[in-house]
Amino acid sequence: MFNILVINCGSSSLKFQVIEAESEELLAKGLCERIGIDGALTYENVKAGTGKKNTTPAIPNHKVGIQLVLDALTDPENGVIKSLDEISAIGHRVVHGGESFSAPAVIDERVIKAIEECADLAPLHNPANLVGIRACQAVMPNTPMVAVFDTAFHQTMPAKAYMYAIPREYYEKYKIRRYGFHGTSHDYVSQEAAAFLGKKREDLKIIVCHLGNGASISAVRYGKCVDTSMGLTPLEGLAMGTRSGDIDPAIIEYIANKEDITVHKVLTILQKESGVLGLSDGLSSDFRDLGKGKAEGDESAALALDSFAYRVAKYIGSYAAAMDGVDVIAFTAGVGENDPDTRAQICSYLDYLDADFDPIANNVRGKAAMISKADSKVKELVIPTNEELMIARQTFKLVY
Ligand code: AMP
Repeated sequence: MFNILVINCGSSSLKFQVIEAESEELLAKGLCERIGIDGALTYENVKAGTGKKNTTPAIPNHKVGIQLVLDALTDPENGVIKSLDEISAIGHRVVHGGESFSAPAVIDERVIKAIEECADLAPLHNPANLVGIRACQAVMPNTPMVAVFDTAFHQTMPAKAYMYAIPREYYEKYKIRRYGFHGTSHDYVSQEAAAFLGKKREDLKIIVCHLGNGASISAVRYGKCVDTSMGLTPLEGLAMGTRSGDIDPAIIEYIANKEDITVHKVLTILQKESGVLGLSDGLSSDFRDLGKGKAEGDESAALALDSFAYRVAKYIGSYAAAMDGVDVIAFTAGVGENDPDTRAQICSYLDYLDADFDPIANNVRGKAAMISKADSKVKELVIPTNEELMIARQTFKLVY
């Protein structure tokens, strides 16, 4: 038994899972929410199948949150383990590894310092990730810990893909470049897509479409990421739930002047009020609501869905060009796994690639499936992502 505790710390939340690394069995999972506000804990002993338990303990900070998680895991009645000795290692999701990390790293003071140095690049996320790391260190000082970075998988991108066409000094001075995010998901899904087809990832050109509330696409050529749609921050690329994705940067100053608001405020609008939420005139960022709206004749909902699919299709085209071809297009995350209509809309643009979409096979939700015809030259797949399992795998690899 090699149980790994996977921790994903946000600014006011803490998601966790316990996974047995050799069998890859999910033993328990849960979520601390409203940390620093009041507090809520959801815990599920998956192994025992006893269902979710919701409680509302006070959670003033992440250290208390971690302690509550460990108490729940070792609870005599509903715990999944008897003592903390049964946790062999902890894997932490860390959002930004900058250029310092192209692979997961065993956490020591040097690694913590490097994560701190990247905090400028992810001011909302990295400090929260560090709080989680410190809180675990305080409670379980002798348990090995690994940091798994959202940016690491994309570090194989060549300079022509990651450099912005702006004065080079900004890269030299401030490391402004494209980093990409969702790397753990792109890595996992490209591996699983190859495995699904019974092939090696090293022999395939794969485009992974991670379409969730945040959305990004990557081009994975023979096992290495060569391009991805998110940039210095997760604002670039596709239109997302509430994020604008690519826009003309001149729009920012233009709106600021017209509305007499700060650049900071415009950026908040681009992050929180844009994407399909903005396109649908504030209807919703959730594709289920947009689908319903479209079915009821709401034109702005239809435009949001059309525009989203169109942009995904354009990125797929550009990544087919970047890789001089494509063998596999894999859809993942909330929308990619569960929304056949959006997948169908995207795939309707891809006939020129010799991707022979199968509308009947596409009627699938939340499980791995081929949604192109079996003899299609380009295979279109649904591959559920599992970032926690990937973090557990990588932690196991480094610690064992
Ligand atoms: P994620 O960020 O990967 O959790 O994805 C969340 C998004 O997935 C939600 O905002 C929904 O838009 C979308 N989603 C989840 N389930 C469905 C569904 N059954 N049909 C359409 N969209 C869905």
